[in-house]
Amino acid sequence: MATLEDQLEELLDQESFSPPDGFKEQAVVADAAIYDQAEDYEAFWAERASSLHWDTKWDQTLDWSNPPFAKWFVGGKLNVAYNCVDRHVEAGNGERVAYHWLGEEGEQVDITYADLHRDIQKFANALTELGVSKGDVVAIYLPMIPEVVVSMLACARIGAIHNVVFGGFSAESVRERIEFSEAKTLITVDGARRKGKTAPIKETVDEVIGDLVDTIVVVEKTGNGAPMKEGRDYAYETLLSKAAAEHTPEPMDAEDPLYILYTSGSTAKPKGILHTTGGYLTGVAYTHKAVFDLKPEEDVYWCAADVGWVTGHSYIIYGPLANGTTSVMWEGAPDYPAKDIWWEIVERFKVTIMYCAPTAIRACMKWGVEHPEKHDLSSLRLLGTVGEPINPKAWLWYWKVIGGGKAPIVDTWWQTETGAIMITTLPALLDTKPGSAGKPLPGIEAAVVDEDGKDVDEGQGYLILKRPWPAMLRTLYKEDDRFVETYWAKFGKDTYLVGDAARKDADGYFWIIGRIDDVVNVSGHRLSTAEVESAIVSHPKVAEAAVIGQADEDTGQAITAFVTLEGAVDDGDDALIDEIRERVASRIGKFARPKRIIWAGDLPKTRSGKIMRRLLRDIAEGRELGDVTTLRDPDVMAQLEGKIKERD
Ligand code: ATP
Ligand code: MG
Repeated sequence: MATLEDQLEELLDQESFSPPDGFKEQAVVADAAIYDQAEDYEAFWAERASSLHWDTKWDQTLDWSNPPFAKWFVGGKLNVAYNCVDRHVEAGNGERVAYHWLGEEGEQVDITYADLHRDIQKFANALTELGVSKGDVVAIYLPMIPEVVVSMLACARIGAIHNVVFGGFSAESVRERIEFSEAKTLITVDGARRKGKTAPIKETVDEVIGDLVDTIVVVEKTGNGAPMKEGRDYAYETLLSKAAAEHTPEPMDAEDPLYILYTSGSTAKPKGILHTTGGYLTGVAYTHKAVFDLKPEEDVYWCAADVGWVTGHSYIIYGPLANGTTSVMWEGAPDYPAKDIWWEIVERFKVTIMYCAPTAIRACMKWGVEHPEKHDLSSLRLLGTVGEPINPKAWLWYWKVIGGGKAPIVDTWWQTETGAIMITTLPALLDTKPGSAGKPLPGIEAAVVDEDGKDVDEGQGYLILKRPWPAMLRTLYKEDDRFVETYWAKFGKDTYLVGDAARKDADGYFWIIGRIDDVVNVSGHRLSTAEVESAIVSHPKVAEAAVIGQADEDTGQAITAFVTLEGAVDDGDDALIDEIRERVASRIGKFARPKRIIWAGDLPKTRSGKIMRRLLRDIAEGRELGDVTTLRDPDVMAQLEGKIKERD
C-alpha cells in the first residue's frame, strides 16, 4: 500500500474536491439560488435578521448616508443575551447542553442553556449592583472556563461593552488595553492552569493595575489564595450567591456597541475593533448555520480557538449560542496532557463539526499521524479552518487523516474587522480547492482590484469588499481617523480595503496570497508569499515555511525563506536546499526560487499562531524589530538572529 506521504503527494495535483455523496440532500443550504437571491443584499440581510428576536423591529435596513460609517437595522431593538440564551429556554430547550466543558485535568462539566440562563441573570444583577451600567466598558481577562461565557453574556445583557483580552497576553498588555478602553471594571481569575502549572493571574494583574479600575471581579478557580483588596475586589461565586435570580434584559439599539476587540497584531500595532449589536448577531448567526451546515438538534460542534480572538467571539460564543448549538469547550492546549488530546475529545464527545487554524493542523502534522490514528474520528462530517492561508499539504492531511476523506473542508476567510466569515465554500454548493477560501458568501461582494481600483477578472491584486455588510466593524474605538485612513482611503469611502492581496481564478475562486505589505517583487514578478510557502511546504521533509522579500541589488527583492523541518531535525544540508529550490522552480517557476534558505527551529508567531513576516523582514534586513507585544515566544527571534549572523 502506498504510504500516507505518497498518497498526499499524489493528491497535491488534484485541483478540486466535491462534497461527498448525500451531503447536499441533507444540507441546511442546498439551493444555489441563494446566490442570486442575495443580489438584493439589503432584502437578503433583512431576511437573515428576521431569524433573531427583536423587541422592536427596525424601520430602515441600512443607512449608508455617511460612509464609511454604516448603520444597520436602524431603529431596531434587541438583546444579544436574550437571543443567545433566553429564547432557547423559552422554546423548551433549556436542558440542551450549550457546552461540554472539559478541564485540563479531565474534569467534565455539561452546561445547559438553563444553567447559562440562571448564572447570566445573576451575574447581570451583580454587575448592576457593582455600578456597571449600559455603555460602560468591562475588561475580561479569563482563560477558557465557563465563567468567560457567563461574563460576556452578562455584559451583553445589561448593555455593557466587553473588551476581552486573550488569556495568554501579559498583564502589561491587559493594563494597556484597559487604559485605552477606559474600562472601570475588570473580570479576571485567581490563577490559570496551563499544561499542568498554575499561573498566578490575579497577583500579576495587581502588580500593574494600580488604581486604573474601580472594581475587580475574581473567579476563584484554582484556589491559589490570590490577594483580594477590600472594597475593590469581589469573588465571583460570592456575588452570584447573593444576587437576585431574575433579570430583565436591556433592550439595546441595533447600533449600540457590543464589544471592543483588538486584532492579532500580525502586521501592525493592534487595532481596537468596535462591533455593534443587531448587525453583528445577524452576521454570525447566519454564517455559523450556513457555513457549518449546522443542525442544532444533532450536531456537536467544536471550535478549538480561544475566546480571546474574534474566532472565539463569533464562533465559540455568539454564533453558536444564537443558533442553540451544543459545543465543546476545551480548557487546555492541544498537546497536554498528550499530543492526542484533541482527537480524544473528538472521540469522547462524538464531535461532528470541527473548526481550527492551519497553524494547529501543521503542528499536528509535525507530531505525527499516530496520535489521531489512536482514536475513532468517524463522527466528523465537516471541517473548517481560519486564520491564515492553508498550505495544500496541510489541507490534504486534514482532509485525509482527520476527516477520513469524507468531510468537506470549509476554508473561511475573514478578519476581526469583518466580524463574520466573508469568503468560503458553502459546503453543499461549491467544490473546494485546497489553498483557496472559495467565493464570497451570499450577501457579500468581494473583488480583486488593481492599483486604480479596477476589477481584475482573473489575476492578482488588492482584495476589497464592495458594499457594507451587517457584521462589519463600525470604527476603531476612539480612532475614527485611523479607521477611515486604514480601510477607506485607498479606493474611496465605499470600498473596504482588506489589507490582504488575493488572486481570483477563472472559476471565480479567491486565493489569499498574503498581506499587501508582504507581497514580494522579484525582477518585476509580483509573487505571493502563500504560494511560495505552499510550494516549499509540499516537500515531504518540510513542516512549515515563511517567505519574505529582502532588498536585493540585482532583482530589487529576492526571496528569503525561513524553513522548519519535520520531526526533531534542526538544520538541513545543502542537498536539501537544492531540492527545495527545485521544488519551487517546478511548482511556480524559476524566478520564484528562494535565494536564501534559513533553517528555523520555529517561526515568530502571534499569540494566535500567525506567522509575523514583518519581524522576519526586520531581522533579515538588520533593522530594529517593530512592535513585538503580540509575539508569542521572544526566544524564537533571538535564535533566528543568531542563525542569520552565522550565515552572513
Ligand atoms: P493585524 O490586523 O493587527 O495585523 P491580523 O490581521 O492577523 O492582525 P486578524 O483579524 O485576527 O488579525 O486576522 C485576519 C487576517 O488573517 C486576514 O486579513 C488574513 O490575512 C488572515 N486570514 C484569516 N483567515 C484566512 C483564510 N482562511 N485564508 C487566508 N488568510 C486568512
Ligand atoms: Mg488585520
